[in-house]
Amino acid sequence: MKKHNYSAGPCILPQEVFEKAAQAVLNFNDSGLSILEISHRSKDFVAVMEEARALALELLGLTGKGYQALFLQGGASLEFLRVPYNLLKENGQAAYLDTGTWANAAIKEAKPFGETLVVASSKPENYNHIPKNYTVPATADYFHCTSNNTIFGTQIKEFPALDIPVVCDMSSDIFSRQLDFTKFDLIYAGAQKNMGPAGTTLIVVKESILGTTGRNIPNILNYQQHIEKESMYNTPPVFAVYTSLLTLQWLKNLGGIPAIEKINEAKATLLYTEIDRNPLFRGTAAKEDRSNMNATFLLNDEAHAPVFDGLWKAAGISGLPGHRSVGGYRASMYNALPLESVQVLVDVMKDLETKV
Ligand SMILES: *Cc1c(COP(=O)(O)O)cnc(C)c1O
Repeated sequence: MKKHNYSAGPCILPQEVFEKAAQAVLNFNDSGLSILEISHRSKDFVAVMEEARALALELLGLTGKGYQALFLQGGASLEFLRVPYNLLKENGQAAYLDTGTWANAAIKEAKPFGETLVVASSKPENYNHIPKNYTVPATADYFHCTSNNTIFGTQIKEFPALDIPVVCDMSSDIFSRQLDFTKFDLIYAGAQKNMGPAGTTLIVVKESILGTTGRNIPNILNYQQHIEKESMYNTPPVFAVYTSLLTLQWLKNLGGIPAIEKINEAKATLLYTEIDRNPLFRGTAAKEDRSNMNATFLLNDEAHAPVFDGLWKAAGISGLPGHRSVGGYRASMYNALPLESVQVLVDVMKDLETKV
């Protein structure tokens, strides 16, 4: 039986995407070849890459606005490094908002390139909220933030309006909600949280911010090189890009980001309402900053854990335990998780009340 998959990543994808991807492994586009054995330079795959890049921009509302989309390798973690390599000037300064483990990792990777200024941090409170009312120096080369903090269950609802380039790690909420994406100059996201299988990273970058550091950038780390080569500088992760394209097509057919945002809001409201109502549980993130993607919560009495764990496992739920740095539970409600799966979890939480 198919599980209700709450995994934080790699994550659930639409069932039709699994089926189409499986079919392409056996016989891609009726070519008599598997997607796993075709040349990345073949006509059929070049078309996949072109459509994936164009569709990513289309869904974000960035077509024809000076942006390029790339599907590269190395995960979001490589972008922690590639961003300062490409944007932080010699003796320059980069401003970072520290909202969690991933934001912190991004800061560490930028340190060798110049000064990293942490404009605000919620680390002392174990990242349970998003800092507000910070100032970003107008002289910084860029501002970096993490839109959704996968581990701590917080999400930035309001982004600062700045005159310097804004870089955002959107790994765990890309394509999940409507934003004015033109406010961002560089967005990156590891595919495996909300877009596809592990193995590729989407980078959306405004071309005009590139080429200003004076630094000699190795080709493999140079965004301009990847743009020039149309995301085919070296062999791209063919299967990961194809499966990401299938997910983007699914999203477009559903009605794009506005349609999925409604569903995501319904799922989050359903679960958070129960977390707040049920006296056995409490949420860990500040209410105004709660993530619609990753809901983190605890049992008020740890002694109830064996019964609760038994109940949700028996209900066919998978991937619910929280990250070790928060404990408790984390329900990751990515785009492809159906509302019905959230109802199953809520029913289990209610059921626990009758069992303890
Ligand atoms: C998972 C995650 C990362 C790390 O992604 P990799 O692709 O494994 O490098 C970075 N940022 C955020 C917000 C994440 O959720």
